[in-house]
Amino acid sequence: MTRQTPDQAPRGRPAGQRAGELRRLESELADLGRSVGTLAQELTPEAALDPGLRADLRARLAILADVLHRHDGIVPQLDPFAPAGHTWPEAERLLGVAAGEARPVLEELADLGLLQRELHNRVHICPQCTRCQLNFRETCTSCSSIDLGIERLVHHFACAYIGLESEYADGIELRCPKCRERLFQLGQDFERPHETYVCGDCHSLMEAPFVNGQCFACAAQFPLRDARVLDVHVYRATALTARAVELGRLTALQVVDLLFDPAAKLARLDYLVHETRREFVRLRRHGGEFSVLRLRFESGGEPFPVFQLASAEAIRDLGVRLTGALRELDLVAPVDTATLCVLLPETAAKGADDVAERLDMLLAAVAVQDAAGKPVQRSWDQRSWDAAPTDFEAVLAWVRGEN
Ligand SMILES: [Zn+2]
Ligand SMILES: [Zn+2]
Ligand SMILES: [Zn+2]
Repeated sequence: MTRQTPDQAPRGRPAGQRAGELRRLESELADLGRSVGTLAQELTPEAALDPGLRADLRARLAILADVLHRHDGIVPQLDPFAPAGHTWPEAERLLGVAAGEARPVLEELADLGLLQRELHNRVHICPQCTRCQLNFRETCTSCSSIDLGIERLVHHFACAYIGLESEYADGIELRCPKCRERLFQLGQDFERPHETYVCGDCHSLMEAPFVNGQCFACAAQFPLRDARVLDVHVYRATALTARAVELGRLTALQVVDLLFDPAAKLARLDYLVHETRREFVRLRRHGGEFSVLRLRFESGGEPFPVFQLASAEAIRDLGVRLTGALRELDLVAPVDTATLCVLLPETAAKGADDVAERLDMLLAAVAVQDAAGKPVQRSWDQRSWDAAPTDFEAVLAWVRGEN
């Protein structure tokens, strides 16, 4: 756009006309501004977010950009004042939150598959306020007193009496409180079997006192078994992290990209479509047969995005199992987050049935569950050809999951 300086403004026209021209230009400029604004919104979904959410998204993306350069990942550091006793300083700086408070955000990014968790530590937290500043004390099993001492027991062989060492004390010597005999030689006439807890209040003896927790933050008291355990993680980049940073968003990423791990030996869908086309050409020229299977994961009749929800590791494991069960020339490719396609060259309908059955059994053993804990269903669709169809493209569209 060229800018009009006052020098270049049309001269020799009446002032009223020039003012009118100026208003027209101003209004055009405003219109242009509005359309650029709309266009920008369409191009970046981020622009549609309210400012708070936008800042949130930026901070999350900054964390992901940061972790891409951290070989060791986002490593927690000990901090006695943080809620879970650990901080993730760089993430907290980027988010502008207090020490330790990046954890829920990092966990959320891990749930989205954008960070990978690695167990770093495990802390006991208060069942009431979830902070980890806790105190554990042994308490008396009879009267709940915390006034417990540890004492050694003494077993007098001659009369079989077992009592606290303090009961045997007689000046600097040991004398049995039951039979009044003096004890001389450890191992000869007495032994010290083990130690025991003694309650200072009710004098009960116990080998295993209760353990009681007390929260320094909210003062709650609870038995040890009620303390919750929280896993503290190191967070590392995943295959999706760079993609999220590149596209500036956290969702709707190409999760299927995760599938192309060399170990999983899965094909890309466009390659499988290409190979299917070649199979048709081969059929037309040389005859023969081949089949294609399509497997859709479903929950409640709807596609279930198993590849989006499962961890990268689980997906690779699935890929390895599937390709491991097939022949070398068979191809498996993910179609979308819920669907897989399997190309079986030189396989008639009956053979394809057998393959589907075998793969289905293998997948049944993996037992994927939906969010409600219900097993995810598998729906198989199969087509076989012993002559080239007249309409290649319709079949290829089916393979691509377009109909
Ligand atoms: Zn005795
Ligand atoms: Zn007691
Ligand atoms: Zn508490």
